[in-house]
Amino acid sequence: PLNTTDLIEEHRICVCVRARPLNKKELTTKDLDVITVPSKDVVMVHEPKQKVDLTRYLENQTFRFDYAFDDSTTNEMVYRFTARPLVETIFERGMATCFAYGQTGSGKTHTMGGDFSGKNQDCSKGIYALAAGEVFVMLGKPNYKKLDLQVFATFFEIYSGKVFDLLNRKAKLRVLEDGKQQVQVVGLQEKEVKCTEDVLRLIEIGNSCRTSGQTSANAHSSRSHAVFQIILRRRGKMHGKFSLIDLAGNERGADTSSADRQTRLEGAEINKSLLALKECIRALGRNKPHTPFRASKLTQVLRDSFIGENSRTCMIATISPGMASCENTLNTLRYANRTK
Ligand code: ADP
Ligand code: MG
Repeated sequence: PLNTTDLIEEHRICVCVRARPLNKKELTTKDLDVITVPSKDVVMVHEPKQKVDLTRYLENQTFRFDYAFDDSTTNEMVYRFTARPLVETIFERGMATCFAYGQTGSGKTHTMGGDFSGKNQDCSKGIYALAAGEVFVMLGKPNYKKLDLQVFATFFEIYSGKVFDLLNRKAKLRVLEDGKQQVQVVGLQEKEVKCTEDVLRLIEIGNSCRTSGQTSANAHSSRSHAVFQIILRRRGKMHGKFSLIDLAGNERGADTSSADRQTRLEGAEINKSLLALKECIRALGRNKPHTPFRASKLTQVLRDSFIGENSRTCMIATISPGMASCENTLNTLRYANRTK
């Protein structure tokens, strides 16, 4: 199991994987666990331990990441190794991003937003809230206190290449790029927050806005990227920004052969944005001068986070443990592997 002494202090890009436990549905359908985390940075996809009649032979595959979190890992622990080391970056005038990437139902929202299962509506243990809490602790430290920083939050959604403000009744917003390549989301609500409770309230507002008017709770949110940002300002000027992103389900990128035109277009858009994201993270990791941020709306609005000296990013690839999800799981692991 992971120990706090295992924390890697200095890396610009951190890529890790998190497996969730088998859920009720998987247990009911007698799906079998094909995931093992044999050490703190290795994840294995293998044949189920329980012998079954396999219609398809499953080859053992091993992947190595910066960290691998097994299904007993708490959100706090995941946070400690992923987003937490990035909080300091925004106090040092940097840009930080943290992505949850994976199949629908694999635990992206659980990791980033908190627990929204059943009657539970607790966003206090999600990475959004944990990171925000840390920001307020850091603000009180003598070094940073004297900077007189103000904290703001935004929460928006990118759906089919369009931006919607989750803190302003899903107002549709335009994205503009000026002559100096600065990207601006016009009219995006930036709410000042003074404490963690203020942030929790905004997360709740944004989340209810995100899921409102949906026939099926997962249908829409699985096809959109949700972006929650914590912005530090000093005398009105941006000092640092932390973007925390709950990505669209990566399996939606394969909807390109769907019979429904709308679904196909959405699938193509998701595919495009996830490919662009991978390329932008790779460019950041390799200090490449050219970052292909214009390739999608997602990477375009995150442009300033991918360039610049002091930019750091973290990707949490979430995976479902079941045999039935095996193909999607392997796709997720391969994608995460290639961002490094
Ligand atoms: P996604 O956002 O990737 O579609 P969710 O975060 O909504 O997936 O997770 C799907 C379900 O699995 C939810 O009911 C959630 O509470 C549960 N879940 C996800 N990750 C975990 C975990 N690590 N431990 C326990 N339950 C989890
Ligand atoms: Mg979700």
